[in-house]
Amino acid sequence: GVEVTKQNLGNFLEWMTGVGTPIEEKEGEVFLNQAPYSFDLSVMDTYTALASGATIASLDKGTMSNAASTMEFLKVQNVNYWISTPSFVDMMLAEKDFNSEKYPDIKVFFFCGERLTKTTANKLIKTFPHSKVINTYGPTESTVAISSVEIKNEHINEDDELPVGLIKPGTKVFLQREDGIIIDEFNQNIAEESGGRENAGPKKTDVGEILIEGNTVSKGYFKMPEKTAAAFDLIKLKNGEVRRMYHTGDLGYFKEGMLYCIGRTDLQVKVHGYRMEIGDIEANILLKENVEAVCVVPKRKDGKIRSLVAFVVAPSVSGSFDDAKDIKRHLKELLPEYMVPKKIKFIDKLPMTSNGKVDRKTLEGMA
Ligand code: AMP
Repeated sequence: GVEVTKQNLGNFLEWMTGVGTPIEEKEGEVFLNQAPYSFDLSVMDTYTALASGATIASLDKGTMSNAASTMEFLKVQNVNYWISTPSFVDMMLAEKDFNSEKYPDIKVFFFCGERLTKTTANKLIKTFPHSKVINTYGPTESTVAISSVEIKNEHINEDDELPVGLIKPGTKVFLQREDGIIIDEFNQNIAEESGGRENAGPKKTDVGEILIEGNTVSKGYFKMPEKTAAAFDLIKLKNGEVRRMYHTGDLGYFKEGMLYCIGRTDLQVKVHGYRMEIGDIEANILLKENVEAVCVVPKRKDGKIRSLVAFVVAPSVSGSFDDAKDIKRHLKELLPEYMVPKKIKFIDKLPMTSNGKVDRKTLEGMA
């Protein structure tokens, strides 16, 4: 139980009601609620709609499990603001009638909760050329989301991966590098003692764990003081001030003030002694044309990771041995050999958790 206070929610809404369009434009519009109420993403649609004077169109589990009934629901409800995980929109994009001609009222697509891939964003921009596609990022512990960016063709064409956005007012993000040093977006060491070596100066790639400070950071975990103390840390700045920061477990970096989230610290794996980032492998598989979605999972034996398996959604190929070889060949051109998954398995669609995120656990069981 993450204790999000009324004040946290108010601070989040003060920002969120103005994201994508000004609050006045949201009044009287229809917001899609796809996330179950047990998932904090539902706070984004439900409360933003309430605070803007909009209507909530709540999609129930039965309707959602069937694409045709979801399509009908969207039409009848005249949804204007779409809020979901990227995985959910991927499911809808597989339907040929899901496009701006059939759904001209969708003005904005908001995403949060998992990585928005270039493949999904590109498809969406092409299918809904008049709608805005907005990526947002954040953990429940900092009240749903703390950053946002409208994804444009430039991002898709120029960046290796899509940004998660500019940080909202009232919030600050720092990065804790592997050596313990905590840096800000300008690569400056900010803390008096960052745990590791004293200021080592910025490294070539300043990737680090994303730490969040500010007016939406929650009180902590309900009745779990130890867990709270471990995740919400007090950090002394160089000027003597003490700040409370939440350790997200996400890895990120800054580029020109824009935050990028490249995966989770717990998705860093070691296979045969080589350390790698699973998100990195997935991003490279997605560069292959025809691949629509991918999830790479470790295959374990006796608790130890033995190899990696990639589950690939590529409806336009037959999924033969040669198709798998083709993906491996593509990866070998981009990554060191040890990062190429041993097995490529083709699958119709990736399983989802009840929150609408890719279900990595189930896939591990299938590896
Ligand atoms: P939850 O608390 O269930 O909303 O999950 C929060 C986690 O989802 C974050 O810590 C990230 O790992 C992931 N996440 C949220 N938004 C994004 C995004 N835009 N891109 C990549 N990962 C995200």
